[in-house]
Amino acid sequence: MQNLLTDIATAAASNPDKGSVATYIPELADIDPKQFGISVALANGDVFCAGDADTPFSIQSVSKVFALALALGHVGDQLWNRVGREPSGLSFDSILLLEREDGIPRNPFINAGALVTTDTYLSGSSPREALAALLRFMRAAADDDSIHINEDVAKSEIATGHRNFSLAHYLASHGNMRNPVDKVLGTYCHQCAVEMSCRQLALAGRFLVDSPAMPTLVSFERRRRINALMMTCGHYDGSGDFAFRVGMPGKSGVGGGILVISPGRAAIAVWSPGLNRYGNSKLGTEAMESFAHSTGWSVFGVP
Ligand code: GLU
Repeated sequence: MQNLLTDIATAAASNPDKGSVATYIPELADIDPKQFGISVALANGDVFCAGDADTPFSIQSVSKVFALALALGHVGDQLWNRVGREPSGLSFDSILLLEREDGIPRNPFINAGALVTTDTYLSGSSPREALAALLRFMRAAADDDSIHINEDVAKSEIATGHRNFSLAHYLASHGNMRNPVDKVLGTYCHQCAVEMSCRQLALAGRFLVDSPAMPTLVSFERRRRINALMMTCGHYDGSGDFAFRVGMPGKSGVGGGILVISPGRAAIAVWSPGLNRYGNSKLGTEAMESFAHSTGWSVFGVP
């Protein structure tokens, strides 16, 4: 495993086409696109890393996986009355289907759906308490109390989040927001601003793997369903492409991180800030394609 990761990191370093970093906030626009890290946390507790695996990055929409687990912990299957389970085929922040579908977002991983999951875990507490619960969940999953929120990123997200505010107001106009929009947005923007390294993210992701090395944070049934949603909806309008190329459940973020699950085997985190045309890490996706090919870990069968 170590040799494979080292080879993948070397190939990424020598690839001249790194993709383009997100530019909507300075904290992401100023990041060096040459960085690349990968970590694999195996079900038996072993962890392998290569490249910039200990450099913290903004996990952005990868946080939506943890938020979903937390929201399901609050309301269980009632969540599915407010958010769907179908891929949208549209960009992460699209408002298009919301009108046609009466304010019920297509899935919990597009922004509109994630605003509903944030609204759900926020209910009954203040934004500060809700974020503390989210961090507690992530820290327990990773067994690492140093995981934190980058306040500068959160402030920039709030200052530039016009589209997210409008999505939340649109949801509210359909009665699909339980809390004031500014509180939901404040919480959502802080959630996106969580920082982790690949090593921390791979360790945190083990809650989605059947892992004897992990405390059981969610039931088998919930884990199975979250993995299914990651496979079908985890990469926005590039979800089909990721499933085609990699064949494992994954969730990407605009900071260039991807959390990938090999059910029963491992959680894998890869990070490189340059994005492809769908807004998913370009080198990260290519690295995972080569990883899946070498390991035969696609859920669709061994080569
Ligand atoms: N903070 C970004 C947003 O909501 C996250 C997008 C992403 O990671 O895909 O708009």
